[in-house]
Amino acid sequence: MICKKCGIDGNFTWDQQHNENTGKWRLFDLSMERPHDCSHEKAPEASLETTTQIPRVKCPKCDPLKDSAWMERNKLQDHIKTAHFGFW
Ligand SMILES: [Zn+2]
Ligand SMILES: [Zn+2]
Repeated sequence: MICKKCGIDGNFTWDQQHNENTGKWRLFDLSMERPHDCSHEKAPEASLETTTQIPRVKCPKCDPLKDSAWMERNKLQDHIKTAHFGFW
């Protein structure tokens, strides 16, 4: 059945035990063997934004106070070769 709140189609059943205890209905995810949590299903979407950002690394040989010491990881190798060639 499909959860009407988040639209996810799963192996759900109404949690009768929970209804007897609290008077509220909630879905129980049979395949996960835990109550269905709508907010939990949205988590991968939020992390998608952070993964699209390229992680930046700090050049160990540049002045750490300068913004230019930070660069994309794949550019660091070239940067060290060109800017700090004398160290190698
Ligand atoms: Zn849901
Ligand atoms: Zn540098």
